[in-house]
Amino acid sequence: MNARKTKKERVLEGLGVSPGIAIGPPHVTEYGAPTVPEYAIDESQVEPEQVRFKAAVTRSARQIRRLKSRAQAVHGAAGEELGYLLDAYQHMLTGSRLTDGVESRIESKRVNAEAAVQAEISKIARGFANLPDSYMAARADDIREAGARLIRNLTKEPFRAFSMIPAGSVVFTDELSPADTALMDPQRVAGFATASGGAEGHTAIVARSLRIPAVVGVPGLLGDMESVDLVIVDGGAGRVVLNPSAKTRADYERRRTVYLRERQKFAGLRKTPAVTRDDTHIDLSANVELPLEVKFALENGAQGIGLLRTEFMFMNRQTAPNETEQYEILRDMVKGMGGKPVTIRTLDVGGDKRAHSLSELLIGSENPALGLRAIRLSLKYRKLLETQLAAFLRAGAHGPTRILLPMISNVDEVRQVRECLKSVARRLKRRKVRIADPLPPLGVMIEVPGAALAADALATVSDFFAIGTNDLTMYTLAIDRSDEQVAHLFNPLHPALLRLIQFTTQAALRARIPVSVCGEMAGDPRYAALLLGLGVRDLSMASPSLPHVKQRVRNIDLTAATMRAQIIMEQINSDRIAALLDEFNALA
Ligand code: PEP
Ligand code: MG
Repeated sequence: MNARKTKKERVLEGLGVSPGIAIGPPHVTEYGAPTVPEYAIDESQVEPEQVRFKAAVTRSARQIRRLKSRAQAVHGAAGEELGYLLDAYQHMLTGSRLTDGVESRIESKRVNAEAAVQAEISKIARGFANLPDSYMAARADDIREAGARLIRNLTKEPFRAFSMIPAGSVVFTDELSPADTALMDPQRVAGFATASGGAEGHTAIVARSLRIPAVVGVPGLLGDMESVDLVIVDGGAGRVVLNPSAKTRADYERRRTVYLRERQKFAGLRKTPAVTRDDTHIDLSANVELPLEVKFALENGAQGIGLLRTEFMFMNRQTAPNETEQYEILRDMVKGMGGKPVTIRTLDVGGDKRAHSLSELLIGSENPALGLRAIRLSLKYRKLLETQLAAFLRAGAHGPTRILLPMISNVDEVRQVRECLKSVARRLKRRKVRIADPLPPLGVMIEVPGAALAADALATVSDFFAIGTNDLTMYTLAIDRSDEQVAHLFNPLHPALLRLIQFTTQAALRARIPVSVCGEMAGDPRYAALLLGLGVRDLSMASPSLPHVKQRVRNIDLTAATMRAQIIMEQINSDRIAALLDEFNALA
């Protein structure tokens, strides 16, 4: 690539998804060489394997189209060069030597698609590398790059170890899966920036949990990085600075000190009770994605774990964990909370959450967000569900727990799980295994619009509700939570969403079952008064948000917030709602 060598400061804008300021050398990783599984297939698998390969081609082509549309925002020679390169990738993926070669290799050699891609790539790249023209020889890298992307889309799980990068680096990459992010060590990775991704996607959620400053959806992020030796990621403002001048750097160092001091100050609120000005107690709990966060939850004064996402146990590994393995991990987390309640959710893979160990179960959805994900997957593969429930019941013998089901859309799903829970409990008791006694409450996520609208019916079969505003917003407004191109439309203040929250809360109050909000909305102090005004008394969020929300709660007068919520619910326009809420927040 003809990179323009310049040390001039450049500023790029994206979506700030995890606050904090990272200053350090960039560690640029594009779609690098992935781990390639290889195995033989029999004749009957040839066609399904070719279909799986075609799906990966379609996905790769779609990613490249998206990267191309973002490249148009990059001005000058770098943008032009990026455009050419992406054109070349696109060409490689459409009816070319590579794709034809892979399909016939799957058939003739009877190997899996990943192995066929790898072999074809090596063959074509060798041919290019031997060419006398240096420009053409350099295209071998492009071929490898296109192949690596295909393989990642086949394996669905990019294994990327960030443990090898120099401490203090800032990771720059085109896209980052939640599983990759979970592998990041906050002591080593100062921050990250990605070219794609939305604020409510799981990559962003994990970044916030790990307190790694992050900006996603940055157009032109990876263009012209050769001459860049220092970068700043401002996760609060959504800004990335390349080659900052001495003055900019000093300015950001100052801001970082102020930010860390603020964080320290907020940490002082740990033991302060979360009560409103008119003395109503609000339950503030933590969302937890990884075992190490139990410590963060307690440090930030969480009253419990309101949402323990169990997907981490299935990520970054080849096979699914068995009952004992899951039990031991969960037992330690429950014990770690020292008697505070822990709400454990069954597996929620699918959509933007992938898990390599389950990739075989997850293939074939044209539209994964609407496909076989979460509870649907658990009910289809009963063994998966039974193993999880057994592990949860056993962990429940070590402290108070609740069981939560993701993506519920009808009462029958809850009934089926309850039956399954009872039969697993009976089996464990027969074997004299110690389990939670009585059985933990069984609750449902309200995150599908249909579930919110049927909340009264669901309340008859559920012991509690947890409103997942991330998916509820996504499905209500038809906006992909991980797509930066529509991120500006992702608005929890849309009247439709607020009605669904209100409707669900009222249904729970009528049925006298607890209701919490555990989507990202709960962790933003801006929304606290509105949620409380709508009747919610229980919020669960990423631990770093706890002190901020607590401080806000302590300034809220519940009677006034309820009145303001009533006015807000009469509005038809989100801008007006935002103005009314901000005005209320500014008063106290
Ligand atoms: C949600 O959808 O709001 C939620 C809390 O679940 P997750 O983010 O894990 O999908
Ligand atoms: Mg969800």
